[in-house]
Amino acid sequence: MPRFPEIFIQQVLQATDIVELVSQYVALKQKGREFVGLCPFHNDKNPSLNVSPGKQIFKCFACGAGGNAMQFVMGYEKMTFPEAVQRLAEQANIPLPKEYESASAPGGMSKNDLTAVTEFAADFFREQLRGPAGQVALNYARQRGLSQESIERFGIGFAPDSWEAFVLAGRKKGYSDQQLIPAGLVRRRDGERGCYDYFRNRLMFPIHDLTGRVVGFGGRALAPEERAKYLNSPESVLFEKSSLLYGLHFAREAIVKSKQAVVVEGYLDALIPLQEGVKNVVATLGTALTERHARLLGRYASEAVLIFDADDAGAAAAERALQLFIIQKLHVRVATISEGKDPCDFCLAKGPDALQTLVDDAPDALKYVWDRRREALRSAGSNPAERNRLIEEFLNVIVSSGAYGAIDGVRQQSMAQYIAHIVNVPAIDLQQRMRRLARHIPRSSGARRPGSPPAGKSFSPSPERHILEILLDRPDLFDDVARQVDLSLFNDAELAVIAERIWAMGEDGRLSLEDLLAVEEMADFAPLLTELSITAQRRGNHEQTLTDAVAALLNRQENREMQEIKAQPMDDENLRRLQERFGKTDPRKRPGIQ
Ligand SMILES: [Zn+2]
Repeated sequence: MPRFPEIFIQQVLQATDIVELVSQYVALKQKGREFVGLCPFHNDKNPSLNVSPGKQIFKCFACGAGGNAMQFVMGYEKMTFPEAVQRLAEQANIPLPKEYESASAPGGMSKNDLTAVTEFAADFFREQLRGPAGQVALNYARQRGLSQESIERFGIGFAPDSWEAFVLAGRKKGYSDQQLIPAGLVRRRDGERGCYDYFRNRLMFPIHDLTGRVVGFGGRALAPEERAKYLNSPESVLFEKSSLLYGLHFAREAIVKSKQAVVVEGYLDALIPLQEGVKNVVATLGTALTERHARLLGRYASEAVLIFDADDAGAAAAERALQLFIIQKLHVRVATISEGKDPCDFCLAKGPDALQTLVDDAPDALKYVWDRRREALRSAGSNPAERNRLIEEFLNVIVSSGAYGAIDGVRQQSMAQYIAHIVNVPAIDLQQRMRRLARHIPRSSGARRPGSPPAGKSFSPSPERHILEILLDRPDLFDDVARQVDLSLFNDAELAVIAERIWAMGEDGRLSLEDLLAVEEMADFAPLLTELSITAQRRGNHEQTLTDAVAALLNRQENREMQEIKAQPMDDENLRRLQERFGKTDPRKRPGIQ
């Protein structure tokens, strides 16, 4: 994915109003020149979130979160920088740059072009469900438990029992076959001219991406003789099953709130609980869970509860998921529905509270996997090699869970004791084996999640800091400052990185807080940058602060040089250098900013 050009990011930011944006998520009240509200980035009781329309930034004085519109979306929606740019561009109706699109789209069709087709198809299918031909499909949807309201909300539709109903509708709308084919909605006829509809006589579930656009479909066959009960859109740049979770667009808010995601396997298994009030449910699209799914959920949740079939395939899937989620530091629990029912039927028959209880009481995945292992252990009987292998395998799961931070040391020890008791081996032996295994586990990077502010960092006032504060509030003072202060004077590593960027922009004559926050590399520094700028604005009196800071910085530098010279033997040569360097001028009397 190529980077967005800076000019494009600036264009998107200029088209976005921070107050309008934040108001979509948080109730804001005007207070003087600023707006205040409850901060969504910590458990806020008093409104600590300040939004400045003048500077187009937000800042929380309790948890330190801060930045511009981009960083707000990154933090709130748990998006990466490019995702946030894309989201804001869409909201502002600014088309993405061509080179950005073409890198990932075939046949000259951009992602936007493709979604225009899929969105059109979603409208078409919805329309068909309302018409006379859709009556059977509508009855089926209602009979499976979907309310009329849900049918509207989730955009359920109907693909007519016809080979070209959609092809013809598309052509009428002005789409050529070459445009309909890449979106996965029609196929070319073998050896003949023309195309035919991919989805026929099916109840249609539109599948949304994180921004709420329709990117593909799942179709449930309505004819009992149809072999493929479910059919998904074919894979395309728009529709990648390994990175999409059905229902995430609807469930995301509840997942963020509860920090928990419930993962099921079918469309209705997600929709019926969503309809009935268990709102943090998503479904895989007929594929096994992938690393990308786990990473996606890891952005929003700290725990995943998997509801799988209570058979061997379900158990294998649970074990695989456990490994994937551990790496994302997600706690995993596994629920099974004993009567062999789907979550959807269970929810309708027993009610949402029963489903919630099933989720709440779901055993820890480690325990679930262990219970399955115990059965294997039992059937291994007295075969010591086989027993040893099974124990070793399980210890490995525990140790990797520990290494990736999914469980703590105490829990690891108690699991070891529990297993030792069952297999009748001294606990100390197992603990030794675990230590040995631990040496071979690669460490996780522990990378910070995108958008989360480096919480609780306190900054001691320093001359460098004061200088940056002022430059961020009054970029017009840059030339004055640059004349007196050299970049090499910045000691603090973090401030030095920011200063370097400020100097580069200042020398180009285009320094502004707004443009600085639009630079991808600065995203991590956004809370600090906003804090610096606001501090300066509140303190005012820039000229005096700047004079003092410059003097302090030069003074510090001279002291350091003096220490260096003094550390050497004081011969004539050194004495002369000392006088020459410091004898004539008193650093405190240097001219400041007039
Ligand atoms: Zn906060």
